[in-house]
Amino acid sequence: MMSLTSAGADCLTNHVFLSVLFFFCLAAPSPVSSVKKGKITKNSISLSWQEPDRPNGIILEYEIKYFEKDQETSYTIIKSKETTITADGLKPGSAYVFQIRARTAAGYGGFSRRFEFETSPVSVAASSDQSQIPIIVVSVTVGVILLAVVIGFLLSGRRCGYSKAKQDPEEEKMHFHNGHIKLPGVRTYIDPHTYEDPNQAVHEFAKEIEASCITIERVIGAGEFGEVCSGRLKLQGKREFPVAIKTLKVGYTEKQRRDFLGEASIMGQFDHPNIIHLEGVVTKSKPVMIVTEYMENGSLDTFLKKNDGQFTVIQLVGMLRGIASGMKYLSDMGYVHRDLAARNILINSNLVCKVSDFGLSRVLEDDPEAAYTTRGGKIPIRWTAPEAIAFRKFTSASDVWSYGIVMWEVMSYGERPYWEMTNQDVIKAVEEGYRLPSPMDCPAALYQLMLDCWQKDRNSRPKFDEIVSMLDKLIRNPSSLKTLVNASSRVSNLLVEHSPLGSSAYRSVGEWLEAIKMGRYTEIFMENGYSSMDAVAQVTLEDLRRLGVTLVGHQKKIMNSLQEMKVQLVNGMVPL
Ligand code: AMP
Repeated sequence: MMSLTSAGADCLTNHVFLSVLFFFCLAAPSPVSSVKKGKITKNSISLSWQEPDRPNGIILEYEIKYFEKDQETSYTIIKSKETTITADGLKPGSAYVFQIRARTAAGYGGFSRRFEFETSPVSVAASSDQSQIPIIVVSVTVGVILLAVVIGFLLSGRRCGYSKAKQDPEEEKMHFHNGHIKLPGVRTYIDPHTYEDPNQAVHEFAKEIEASCITIERVIGAGEFGEVCSGRLKLQGKREFPVAIKTLKVGYTEKQRRDFLGEASIMGQFDHPNIIHLEGVVTKSKPVMIVTEYMENGSLDTFLKKNDGQFTVIQLVGMLRGIASGMKYLSDMGYVHRDLAARNILINSNLVCKVSDFGLSRVLEDDPEAAYTTRGGKIPIRWTAPEAIAFRKFTSASDVWSYGIVMWEVMSYGERPYWEMTNQDVIKAVEEGYRLPSPMDCPAALYQLMLDCWQKDRNSRPKFDEIVSMLDKLIRNPSSLKTLVNASSRVSNLLVEHSPLGSSAYRSVGEWLEAIKMGRYTEIFMENGYSSMDAVAQVTLEDLRRLGVTLVGHQKKIMNSLQEMKVQLVNGMVPL
């Protein structure tokens, strides 16, 4: 079989080449230079404008950003295919600032300069064209229309997003506050790629912090772009508090700087207790830094490995609940993570888990788990849904698949999914319908949820809100977690069918136990009738306990080794 890596590398090279070609052939449109006011009422301003001088392609739509003068943090965005719009719902007698930009297949052009127009004052008749309708009637009408618009919007349950092609109305309207949508209860993630100038995106969503407010204390990790440190942040009027500081190493390229800050542009749009919180960025001095809340226990996979067997099931479910809640928030915002894995979850001293590692394309570039696929692009195979591996169908449903793998990682205290199977074997086994077996001592309800997340049909997988409700139910009713996947069904739920181990690589039980450093149990196994590998294949956890294997670590080693052998069998890695 052709190696995934080499084929992928070829594809990637082509892909990059084509992208570069595409990039150079298509320039974004020049800014709109002329904007005229049309009809003005006390609550609305109509505008019209000329196409940019250099559209450099077919204009697909315009984006109009406006805000009340001196209130830039609370702005509204309207999208329009025409060169006219009416901004309504405005305050009477107030100045508003408008900026317009055009989008073609090459992306958005720069925003126009700022144009300032004022609504009519309350005291004059309803509109500048001297309509004589009494103000009260206009107000009621405007109120009713606004109410109808809001109710209509809510009833339609529609989600809007910048880059969604399916959105057909002439105008799409979103309201933001500090980069977040204010009305009507819909918040949508904005891809920083839609900004021609990435610096604009980062300052839209992240606060600039003065380097003098930060004290760096020690290095705690290594990121793709530079060191990750812990330290303290002292903002004016606030108490000093601990933070994590990601730095951009010296000698970076412009692209590296853009990608590095891209993470802040994404993180800065989120505000949820289970999403890592961005404090701000340092871009005006060097080194460039991203400052986030500090998570004392670091990344979840390492933390669980270090604390194997130390938590109650409720504590583990609490961690999973937090991750699911963060993911529900992200999926509601229209953000697909693509690299959800325990290594990308951070955990604090209260065992609160937060989703982290946001990025643009680089999310996967920088993950050591990611491997090139035959279609090009790097994917963390073991965590990724089959449709995302096969045809890059990354959706919230593929994030749900990854969430199932995170559940498995958590319940097995940081075990590596599919152990040492190769990526190709994982893809093959999953395609053939095999799934990871239940972790040891795992409540049946949790394992069932994992299997649900790993449904081949992505529409049959639970949604994140359903996962959160399900985990809440289990937490409220802890007795529901008492039923564990029993040892024998755990065996039957293996990644493989019930294949005897008689023809495994090990010639004797003793050789096998020695190989996994459990040789001390050889005698007990032999004395109790487990004298062949076939017999050993039937061993359950209860059997182990009965044989006097009471140490959880030893039980795990033996059971996992059995599983692994069965996995290898089905993948033809062990001669039959
Ligand atoms: P990253 O570049 O985000 O993968 O970060 C590299 C490593 O730095 C992580 O695996 C963590 O161990 C550590 N780290 C990153 N962010 C934080 C944080 N906010 N708090 C504590 N440790 C962190």
